[in-house]
Amino acid sequence: MSTDIEHIEIRGARENNLREVNLRIPKRKITLFTGVSGSGKSSIVFDTIAAEAQRQLFENFSLFVRNFLPKVPQPAADAIANLNMAVIVDQKRLGGGSHSTVGTATDINPLLRLLFSRVGQPHVGYSNQFSFNDPQGMCPECNGIGQKLGVKADGFLDMSKSLAEGAVQVPVFAKWENAMYAASGFFDVNKKLSEFTKEELDLLLYASPRKFKAKFNGNDMNATYMGIIEKFTRAYIKRDLKTLSPRTQKTVAPYLTMGPCPLCKGARLSQAALGCKIQGKNIAELTAMEVDELLPWVKSLEGAAAAPLAKTLAERLGHVVDIGLGYLSLDRPTDTLSGGESQRIKMVKHLGSSLVEVLYIFDEPSVGLHPRDVYRLGTLLRELRDKGNTVLVVEHDPDVIKIADHIVDVGPHAGRKGGTVVFEGSYEKLLQSKTLTGQYLERQLPLKETPRRPKGKLPIRNARVNNLKDVSVDIPSGVLTVVTGVAGSGKSSLIHEVFVPTTPGAVVIDQSAVGTSSRSTPATYTGVMDDLRKELADANDVDASLFSFNSKGACETCNGLGVLYTDLAFLEGVKTPCETCHGKRFKDEVLEYKLEGSSISDYLALSVTEALAALGSNKGAKKRVPLLRKLEAMRDVGLDYLTLGQPLNTLSGGECQRIKLATELHKKGSVYVLDEPTTGLHMSDISLLMKIIDRLVDEGNTAVVIEHNLDVIRSADWVLDLGPDGGSKGGEVVFEGPPTELLKVKNSLTGAALRGEF
Ligand code: ADP
Ligand code: ADP
Ligand code: ZN
Ligand code: ZN
Repeated sequence: MSTDIEHIEIRGARENNLREVNLRIPKRKITLFTGVSGSGKSSIVFDTIAAEAQRQLFENFSLFVRNFLPKVPQPAADAIANLNMAVIVDQKRLGGGSHSTVGTATDINPLLRLLFSRVGQPHVGYSNQFSFNDPQGMCPECNGIGQKLGVKADGFLDMSKSLAEGAVQVPVFAKWENAMYAASGFFDVNKKLSEFTKEELDLLLYASPRKFKAKFNGNDMNATYMGIIEKFTRAYIKRDLKTLSPRTQKTVAPYLTMGPCPLCKGARLSQAALGCKIQGKNIAELTAMEVDELLPWVKSLEGAAAAPLAKTLAERLGHVVDIGLGYLSLDRPTDTLSGGESQRIKMVKHLGSSLVEVLYIFDEPSVGLHPRDVYRLGTLLRELRDKGNTVLVVEHDPDVIKIADHIVDVGPHAGRKGGTVVFEGSYEKLLQSKTLTGQYLERQLPLKETPRRPKGKLPIRNARVNNLKDVSVDIPSGVLTVVTGVAGSGKSSLIHEVFVPTTPGAVVIDQSAVGTSSRSTPATYTGVMDDLRKELADANDVDASLFSFNSKGACETCNGLGVLYTDLAFLEGVKTPCETCHGKRFKDEVLEYKLEGSSISDYLALSVTEALAALGSNKGAKKRVPLLRKLEAMRDVGLDYLTLGQPLNTLSGGECQRIKLATELHKKGSVYVLDEPTTGLHMSDISLLMKIIDRLVDEGNTAVVIEHNLDVIRSADWVLDLGPDGGSKGGEVVFEGPPTELLKVKNSLTGAALRGEF
C-alpha cells in the first residue's frame, strides 16, 4: 500500500456486488460516482468508504467506551486507507420536531440573535433572550412552539335537547357530565339548550371551577362545577397527550385543534424579545420573511456596530439563495421540507462550518432542482472543496457530472453484471469513452411531436394552498402530463395537496419507504414470498408458515433478520451479521426442505433475473404464472438486479418508487401521480422508465408526473409549468400545452431549459 496521503486508497473492495474494486480518489477534489442504478455506486461510497470511516471513528474511542459499542465489521475489502472524518449529506428528512426550523438547522438563527443582542432597540439582553429554544427567550404561553392546542367544540352539545334529555354529547365523559350539570342546580334541566341565554351557555361551556353541593340519591355531596370546555381542556389539553390511553387519544383527537398561540401569535418568543427591533422589525418578522427578501434587508444594514455581523449573516443567507432555497423562510419547520430541500439545508450548514479536511459525501444532490439551479449547486460544491475538503458525489445528472474534477463510472451493468470501475478520469475523456454513461451524456430523447389526445379533463379549481394564487386548471385524462417549475413554484402543493385529495382513484407512487417491518424484502412486498412458501410447503408436505421470517422456522438469534441491529444513542445505529444462521435467516432444519433443489434461503439470494431463469424455465413454470408475473413486473421497472431477500430498508428512494410501480403495473383505470421518478436513475434507464409510463397510459390510465428531467419533459403529451419563480414569486400557471409549444415560451424557465439556455 502506498503512503501517498493525497489520495484515498481502496484495494479489493467486495461489498455486495463489487468485484475486487481498486480506486485512488484524489483528496481536496470533487469526485463523482455514476453508473446505472444497481451498478454498485452506493456499495463503494456508502457501504465501503463511509462505513469504514465510521468504524475508524469507533476505533478512536477508549477501550472502555468500545466495550459498550457493537463490533462493527470491517467492510469487505483488502485495504482502505487515508480516510478523513466523513460527513454524509443525504436526503433523509431533518427531524427535530417543532423546535427545528430552517434557521436553526442552518445555524443562521444564532447570528440573527447576536445581531439583535448587539444593536436591537430597546436593548433586551444576551442573545439567548431571542431564542425560542431557550427558557429565557421562549413565549411562556406556548413554550416556544408558537402553536397551542385548542378545543373544537362542534358536536359537544345537541342544541335541540335539554340537559335532562342528555344534551351534553362530549365524548368520553358525556354520561357523568349530564348528571353533574343537571345536579348543579345552575340550570333549568328541562329547558332546551336552543332556548338558553348567552349567559347560561357561557356558564355551561366556559365557567371556571366552583364548588357546589350536589344531591345524589338524596345525599349532599361536595362537588366541583366547571364549564365543559374548561373541563375538557384540563383533562386532555393541559396534560401530555401521550399519557392518555390510545383509545382515549383516538376519541379525543377529532375535538382538538392546533391554532396560533394567543400570546405570541405564532412568533414563539417572549414579549420582551418581540419588542426589540432593528429598523422597525423584530426578529420574528425577519424569520418570517422569505430569504430572498431577507438578504437585501440584511445587506442594507449599516453602522459600525452591525457591519461585520451583518456581513457574515448575508454570506450565510446568500448560500441559501445560491442553492435555490431563497423561497423558504427561516421560521419554516424542517419537518415540512422535502428530501431534496432537507439535503440542501444540510449543505448550507456545512458551507458555514469552519471544519477542513472533511470527507463530504452527497447522494444525488440534484434531486428536486430545476436545471436553472443546478449550476449554482456546482458553485457550492466547489466552495466546499476549496475550503480544503474532499467531496464525493453520487449523481446521474449530466450537468452535475460536468462540474466534477474526477469521475468514476461504475458498471458495466447492474447487480452481478456490474460491480467494476469501467472508467476513471475527466469529463472530456468520459465523453469519448464507450461506457453507457459516456454514450448517453450527449444523447437526448426526442421532443414529442404528436401527443396523445386527452379523453377528458380532471379539474382543479381555485387552489390556494401555500403559495398557489387561486389556480384553476384542468389536467387532461388518458395522457401523460408532466408538471414542471423551479423548486418552490408550487408543484407539490398543487398536485399532492389539491389534485390528489380531490381526484377519485388517484394513486400516488412516491419515494417514501416501503414496508414498515425490517423483515420486509422485495419478495414479501410483491407477494412473491407467499407464492414461494406455498410451493415449498406443497413440495415437502409441510406447513407454509414454516417459511415465514416471523414463524418458528426463523433463526431464533436474529428473529429472521439475518443481522443484528444495535441502536446507539449518540451515533447512527449499526448492524452486524447473525453468527447463528450466517445471514440465512432460517433454522437449519427449514433449509433442508427444497423446491427443485433449492431452499427458501437459496431463492432469497437470487436476483430478479436469476429467479426468473430458475423458476420460469422448467416444467413447473406453467403452474406458477402469477409468481412469474410479479417477477416480470420487477424486471420491467428496471429492478432486474435486485436480490429477492434484500431488506427493503436498504433500497433507495428511487428503487422504492419503482417497486411500488411494479405492483401497480397491471391495474387499469386509475390516475397515477409520480414525484420525480427519475431519482436514482441513470440516463440509460430513463427511456426504460418512459416505456413503463407510456404502457400505463396506453392501457387507459392517466399519468401525472412531477419532474425536472428534460428527457421526461420532452416525452410528455402535455406540460403544466408553474412559476414564474419560487415562493411568493411563484404559484401561477405559466404555461399549459404540448412540449413543442413550451419550447417557444419566453417567460418560462422550463422553456428556457428546453432551449438549452442554462
Ligand atoms: P447503485 O448505488 O449503483 O444503485 P448499489 O451499490 O446500491 O448500486 O447496489 C449494487 C448491487 O448490490 C445491487 O445488485 C443491489 O441489489 C445489491 N445490494 C445493495 N445493497 C444490498 C444489501 N444490503 N443486501 C444485498 N444486496 C445489496
Ligand atoms: P415545489 O413542489 O414546486 O418545489 P412546493 O409546493 O413544495 O413547491 O412549495 C410552494 C411554496 O409553498 C413554497 O414557497 C414553499 O415554501 C411553501 N410551502 C410548501 N409546503 C409548506 C408547508 N408545509 N408550510 C409552509 N409553507 C410551505
Ligand atoms: Zn406563544
Ligand atoms: Zn440468524
